[in-house]
Amino acid sequence: MDQIKIGRFIAECRKKNGLTQMQLAEQLNITDRAVSKWETGRSLPDSSIMLELCHILNINVNDLLNGEVITVEHYNEKNEQLLVELAKQKEEADKRLLALEVLIGVLSIIILLGAVFSASFLPMRDWVRICIILAGFAVSLVGIGYAIRIEQTAGYYECAKCRHRYVPTYNSVLWAMHMGRTRYMRCPKCGQKSWQKKVIGKGNE
Ligand SMILES: [Zn+2]
Repeated sequence: MDQIKIGRFIAECRKKNGLTQMQLAEQLNITDRAVSKWETGRSLPDSSIMLELCHILNINVNDLLNGEVITVEHYNEKNEQLLVELAKQKEEADKRLLALEVLIGVLSIIILLGAVFSASFLPMRDWVRICIILAGFAVSLVGIGYAIRIEQTAGYYECAKCRHRYVPTYNSVLWAMHMGRTRYMRCPKCGQKSWQKKVIGKGNE
């Protein structure tokens, strides 16, 4: 808290209400020295008299502690800034996740191909061959499952018919026909099927 700012604000409000330091002090049953200390930023009003002080000065405690009158528009502005900031952070996080998805997908395929290739061409016992192929499939299935989970939750899918942006269920992403990240799914809003693109950001709905 900015004591100097609060002090100046108290002085300003006191004068607006046509009070001297002495008159304000009397109303609060304190010394005018205490009022002077607040106004020069050397101390803050005690919490026990803060409400009474705000009442006399026609401000609320929030104004007092901020050292200025906080208007409703100000609140909204600050909230909006915060929301924009949060949305930006989510978009950045989603972009990173989608990059990670590509990496996981590529690694899964390399592991699977590596397993199949080595089991097919390297000399080894048949049961080892089978184990290596099964392990390759298992690892790549886990990887692909994880990649699909990322694709489901990062960003949104956009309905080509009504432009509705939404997060689909895991199963609808898993079983949908797809070309890259564009998937043929049913829109939960308009109920039509279309090729839906993966988009970052919720848009202006
Ligand atoms: Zn739709």
